[in-house]
Amino acid sequence: MDDCIFCKIVAGDVDAKLLYEDDAVVAFADVSPMAPVHALVVPKKHVASVEEAGPEDRELLGHMVRAARKLARELGVADSGYRLVINTGPDATQTVPHLHLHLLGGRALEPRLG
Ligand code: 5GP
Ligand code: ZN
Repeated sequence: MDDCIFCKIVAGDVDAKLLYEDDAVVAFADVSPMAPVHALVVPKKHVASVEEAGPEDRELLGHMVRAARKLARELGVADSGYRLVINTGPDATQTVPHLHLHLLGGRALEPRLG
């Protein structure tokens, strides 16, 4: 996807503070953090959203959560706790149409989700 900001980060064409990488995903610091720890776990494959993920992406979706868990441990929030969020579509305020999982932690987060 030529005009996708996260595809450009995956390709190394746009800078980001990389925190984790494996064969299927990268994770980098959110440019506008909402918590002391705010990382984005992003599949290397362009999938626009959860709604666009197909049966072939089943393993990838699980992989994203496993990668987030590993990263939470590395960033020191595994025991204090963290929130994983995937915004999907306009009402959820998804602004980047490339699937991504937010990893938020490092402070007590509001109990409200919506
Ligand atoms: P969404 O609202 O789509 O769930 O989340 C998109 C997130 O991507 C936002 O938290 C926003 O700050 C972050 N973001 C958007 N563009 C960039 C970028 O170019 N670099 C980084 N590191 N984060 C970005
Ligand atoms: Zn993309």
